[in-house]
Amino acid sequence: MVHAGERKPLPTGLPNATPIFANSTFGYESMEQADLVFSGDLKDYIYTRYGNPTVEAFQEAIRVLEGGAVARAYASGMAALHAALLASDLTSGSYVIASRDLYGASFDLLYNIFGPFGVKTQLVDFADLDVLRQKTAELNPRALLAETISNPLLKVLDIEAVAEIAHSVGAKFIVDSTFATPYLSRPIEFGADLVVHSATKYLGGNADATGGVVVARDIADEPALTTAMKLAGGILSVWEAHSISRGLKTLALRLDKQCANAEFLADALRARDDIERVYYPKFSTDGVAAKVLRQPLNGALLSIVSKDNTREAAWSFMNALKLCVRATTLGDVFTTVSHSATSSHRELTEKRREALGISEGLVRISVGIENVADILADIEQALDKAKGKSKNA
Ligand SMILES: *Cc1c(COP(=O)(O)O)cnc(C)c1O
Repeated sequence: MVHAGERKPLPTGLPNATPIFANSTFGYESMEQADLVFSGDLKDYIYTRYGNPTVEAFQEAIRVLEGGAVARAYASGMAALHAALLASDLTSGSYVIASRDLYGASFDLLYNIFGPFGVKTQLVDFADLDVLRQKTAELNPRALLAETISNPLLKVLDIEAVAEIAHSVGAKFIVDSTFATPYLSRPIEFGADLVVHSATKYLGGNADATGGVVVARDIADEPALTTAMKLAGGILSVWEAHSISRGLKTLALRLDKQCANAEFLADALRARDDIERVYYPKFSTDGVAAKVLRQPLNGALLSIVSKDNTREAAWSFMNALKLCVRATTLGDVFTTVSHSATSSHRELTEKRREALGISEGLVRISVGIENVADILADIEQALDKAKGKSKNA
């Protein structure tokens, strides 16, 4: 994380941190040289949409961290997921089997962008491997898509088992590993074919950059990922690449602290008698978290449901927070809280949310690097205040 991708030699020496190459184009000494570059006989830069040293430093870092053959960066996590799907040999009539717990915009991408081109999406609960196996055999999908850690119930995916199911029909297995990062899990080691990240979250980590990246296990996916970059054109900006590369250097430090904070909060909140349930991977009993996540870490997100499981109670609690930030994002250095029913899962009917286990009172907490006593004190005073409110009512 600290060194990968850095110190590529320049005519001026070895820069310790990769400079921002803000140039959109590259020129040549002669037309003969240009011809060699355009033909591919001489490796050099042409145009920033085709490749840029600042962006390539980030790509190389994340490729090394995920243990893949190639990485390509994009303007956002959604652009990266779009590219991963473009690299999955989808044609009209082909199926994608996607986790029913997917990030909301990922459903919309499948249904609203790929749907009109004839790509069909089947949603399945990826925790039920028997049903997944059966649906995969039945539909012969080109791709399976799921997340390492689901939102907002934080179920950890048995990547190895799902990879085996995907490969039994020659489908690509795409893993959105945004919630886990390569520090907590390396999906390629478990058989994933394409790993996608919203770099906007933990990789950048400082709430100041938007980006995405795809890492492929197989170099054969490089042309499709590069084509998505060149022709769909959603490339990562050099400025964002610089910010995210800087963020990446402290990923382990941040996550060690964030995961320790999250575990402390999860235990403390679970002990409160006004809390009905705390969702945190450590508390699941299926053994998957211990297999997939770097132990003893269990991620830096938790979700809580108070006994008074209503939208009003959740909002009163959230409104009373003084330190934690109300924002529908995650992975930042500061603690953020979001109300799933009215943010990420707003478009679903209440009945559908209930079927997914997302109740009106559920609040997701993305734990930051603050002093954990400060975070806990803020959450506790807000819970007490919200409780007082509902008693008065
Ligand atoms: C945020 C997020 C995305 C989308 O990323 P953007 O950078 O916002 O485009 C995709 N998947 C997951 C799991 C996310 O949290």
